[in-house]
Amino acid sequence: MPKLFKDILNQSSFSKSDLVTMLSADEQNRKLLFDKSASIKHEYVGNKVYYRGLIEFSNLCGKDCLYCGIRAGNKKAHRYEVSEEEVLEAARYAWENKFGSLVIQAGERSGADYVNRIERLLHEIKKMSKGELGITLSLGEQSEETYKKWFDAGAHRYLLRIEVSNPELYHRYHPNNKKHDYQQRLNALFLLRKLGYQVGSGVMIGLPFQSLEDLADDLMFFREHDIDMVGMGPYIEHEDTPMFEYKDQLMPKMERFYLSLKMVAVLRIMMKDINIAATTAMQAIDPMGREKSIKVGANIIMPNLTPTKYREDYLLYEDKPCTDEDAEECKRCLEARIHMAGGQIGYGEWGDSRHFLKRKT
Ligand code: SAH
Repeated sequence: MPKLFKDILNQSSFSKSDLVTMLSADEQNRKLLFDKSASIKHEYVGNKVYYRGLIEFSNLCGKDCLYCGIRAGNKKAHRYEVSEEEVLEAARYAWENKFGSLVIQAGERSGADYVNRIERLLHEIKKMSKGELGITLSLGEQSEETYKKWFDAGAHRYLLRIEVSNPELYHRYHPNNKKHDYQQRLNALFLLRKLGYQVGSGVMIGLPFQSLEDLADDLMFFREHDIDMVGMGPYIEHEDTPMFEYKDQLMPKMERFYLSLKMVAVLRIMMKDINIAATTAMQAIDPMGREKSIKVGANIIMPNLTPTKYREDYLLYEDKPCTDEDAEECKRCLEARIHMAGGQIGYGEWGDSRHFLKRKT
């Protein structure tokens, strides 16, 4: 006899086929899933939502990921790098408004000048905030030496999405060359762990050729690698990328959205005490997307602090929200939204991954 959906939800571990069943939940079962994940969230991480003020530092990128709007090959993208002064200004804003933490994200670059510039910025942010601001980096694959330099300069969390955990699929979404090597990306996650970072990863949901089995594999990948924090969201096509060609094969955006919500909910049930981000791509599809993610299991949100004049240029995908708001508007609007979703903001706290802290002790 097939298992009942609600019995699967109450299991303490899940097979791949259980995960696929949960991801295929119809509207009725979806509600059971979301109720369960909400109660697990409440029990294991509470209702606090932690801020990571997001600085989209630069859209210069040496890579050519076939889905991404800021890929090197997109000659239409207008390239920028935020000045050091502007970064410090944004960091000061985050600190004065008790955001607790920052995320610095950019396209992927290396080179001594760049690496040193980031290192210097980290030192300056730490100094300015008297060590109070926590810092997450999301700057792609780097050498062990670079990761160590940045860790020593004060970064303590790193987000590096595996993008898709199946190596064969990975190669369909990336050029087939040394710069885009699955094994190397995976290895970067090991390096980050070894150096002492809280390690974050994630995937895109609703990519062409991707099945529910693949997404179940992605969830098992997070578990197998004992990931501390996850940021994942719907794939959203971008006109000036090679993958736009498959736009007619995608599931409708709302379906990608609900599938992403289910991924968040199932992950919360599987990995109860990790940090899960309510990602901007969710909001790109549904204006209340991030709040809905918080309701079903997410506990991290990244208010955008990138100076407004650069925002239009950090266009990873179409319809990216909030490109015309300044930090103050963004903060007010978020606060109200989080309260509506039953959350409470962890002002002035780092909100580290409990999963990470537990492993350490
Ligand atoms: N250079 C960094 C950060 C990349 S941009 C790195 O390599 O990790 C941040 C994330 O945006 C990517 O990891 C990717 O998952 C997501 N992204 C890129 N293009 C996207 C698209 N078309 N739709 C949805 N998410 C996308």
